[in-house]
Amino acid sequence: MLTHEELTTVHLVLNTDCNAWALKPTSRSPGVCRFCYRERNRVAAVDADTVRRVIDRVRSESEARRCVFTGGDPVMPYDNHLEVALRHATEVGFETNLHTNGLLLAERYAALRNHVSIYSLAVDGATAETADWFRGHGYYERFLANVEFLTADLRRLAFNTFTTAGSVKELPLLAQLIAGVTRRTDVEYWLISQYRPIGRANPRKAALYAFDRDDFAPAVDDVRDRVEGVAIFAQPTRAPQDPYPFRVWVLVDGTVTADLGSVEAPHNEVLGDLLVDGFEPLVRRARALRRQTQSEGIA
Ligand code: SF4
Repeated sequence: MLTHEELTTVHLVLNTDCNAWALKPTSRSPGVCRFCYRERNRVAAVDADTVRRVIDRVRSESEARRCVFTGGDPVMPYDNHLEVALRHATEVGFETNLHTNGLLLAERYAALRNHVSIYSLAVDGATAETADWFRGHGYYERFLANVEFLTADLRRLAFNTFTTAGSVKELPLLAQLIAGVTRRTDVEYWLISQYRPIGRANPRKAALYAFDRDDFAPAVDDVRDRVEGVAIFAQPTRAPQDPYPFRVWVLVDGTVTADLGSVEAPHNEVLGDLLVDGFEPLVRRARALRRQTQSEGIA
């Protein structure tokens, strides 16, 4: 059994594709989510029963408390077993954290509402001009509408923000927006990230999005006192001095992957199939590989 200290959170992936691909870029932006390292769907098609068995296996072999639903985007325009997975994860005792761009949230909200503990909404600017530059035309408007109905329904929220050298200067404005939300409902955290050169990284993306961590860290520190009661996390660059936290991703087809901390790695390490190998042994192996990576000095 993996203890709570060994594994607090599990990331569950129903699909790695994303509905944001349907948005149009603004006339001045480089494209929709060009910074993203998501790929075409890497999760094999499975039935609802397999989804439940995968969640059961994670439950029976770990004391992890939180199950994060991520992707891609888990709220898709097709049946990806999201409701089944959320319901089952809740029933076996996980708190559930849905990470979403919110583009299709209103459509599926009624079916998933009772099984989501916390909604993490992505927003990269406090104006339509900035937010849409990152994620596409109309994104910001949809974000505000989501915040409105979720706060009116007293849901627990969190926010994810991706930054560039330009947008990081707007964090105080975004802090103001989030502080306003805290007066209406619970906000657990705000995760602020820098570009990470992983997945399908290339020099063009780096030129658009990358900037010095010495400009990033103080900008994040500057907003820490502006949103009372909200934990603020700065997501590192994955440079050697900024190792990425240990995380485990479980695809609902049973595949377990982990981030071993190397900025060189194009993908998370594929460890095996938990329905065949068991969950605990795969996570222990990932921890050992991670230690090895770090001791070799390439983390
Ligand atoms: S919404 Fe998120 S997962 Fe989807 S393309 Fe954008 S950054 Fe990637």
